[in-house]
Amino acid sequence: MAGIYFHIPFCKQACHYCDFHFSTNREKQSELIAAMKKELILQRDYLKDHPVLTLYFGGGTPSLLTASEIDSIVQVTTDYHQLAGQMEVTLEANPDDLTIENLDQLRQTQINRLSIGIQSFNDSLLKTLNRSHDRKTAIDSYYQARNSGFHNINIDLIYAIPGLTLSQWKKNLQHALALDPEHISAYTLTIEPDTVFGRWARAGRFHGVEEDEAANQMELLVEMLTFAGYEQYEVSNFCKPGFPSLHNSSYWNQDPYLGIGPSAHSYDGVSRQSNVRNNHRYMKSIDIGLVPFQREVLSRTDRINEYLFTSLRTAKGCDLEKLRNEFHLDILATHGTYVGHLTSRNLAVLEGTTMKLTPSGRLLADKIAADLFVLDQAQ
Ligand code: SF4
Repeated sequence: MAGIYFHIPFCKQACHYCDFHFSTNREKQSELIAAMKKELILQRDYLKDHPVLTLYFGGGTPSLLTASEIDSIVQVTTDYHQLAGQMEVTLEANPDDLTIENLDQLRQTQINRLSIGIQSFNDSLLKTLNRSHDRKTAIDSYYQARNSGFHNINIDLIYAIPGLTLSQWKKNLQHALALDPEHISAYTLTIEPDTVFGRWARAGRFHGVEEDEAANQMELLVEMLTFAGYEQYEVSNFCKPGFPSLHNSSYWNQDPYLGIGPSAHSYDGVSRQSNVRNNHRYMKSIDIGLVPFQREVLSRTDRINEYLFTSLRTAKGCDLEKLRNEFHLDILATHGTYVGHLTSRNLAVLEGTTMKLTPSGRLLADKIAADLFVLDQAQ
């Protein structure tokens, strides 16, 4: 199975933490959508015989698209790609775009999953992040989406924001749980260099939170959400039984995917490619029939390390048999002492041929994966 990701590179305003590719100038929106449809045709052979199970409109702010723009993209996808029966079709949406009229139109499209970028229920923190909505708009948008007939809704939250106390985070989580969404994604704030926060941090005007504080907030997140019946199926992703994001799961399962639009990434099992991060250059190149991408062929080391990194973050865990069969790597032989240390400290368990991190281990997932990474033979 495969997925297609559409990067919609427009936003109303720039959030202070965001380093995704987007423009706040929307003059060329319709030309860009036309170029993306042309790219879908140019890339019709990329996924070979893998049927497409998921479509994901991300960005940027895909909720700035009109329903007819969404329909036209889905139509070209249907015309030029092999689809797998009932697809999961997700739209990332900002709360202030989810008016009743807009939602009614979205319901007429093939979108069957909404991912609402709420981020916080605290007005002062929303201002710190420079989000374009407030708490009331966030809550209203959620209920409006529900009343319009969306039965599969994710809400995004951010924690470890400077100024967010543990008790405020608890209130945020209580608000999120009161909404009763099918899925919650919660990410720690990272301060990226090429953002407003990054510039403030370099000028000494903004400081990230201490690691311990972020860890306490993450522990509370896991505790409250699992108590409420959500499965932590990936370190940052929680779902009610039966509602994982199929699209994101396919990234973690290393299934192939095609990324359409400026800055979008694609993966075919052996290489990764990323489109140019510039709307004008993207459109110019597509206009002459060339997809403007850079391609990186993944080495055995890259593929092993990517697999370790993604699989250890998931509840499914790392399949040691897959490592043996596909990569001729026996982790228990190369890192047996370290794995023994993880299991004795209750950070990991071995179930048959699978290594899974325990809830305490998942707090350290990225470090544990890095400790297991193999090095390039040339190094
Ligand atoms: S976080 Fe989302 S809405 Fe904010 S600037 Fe980034 S892509 Fe746009």
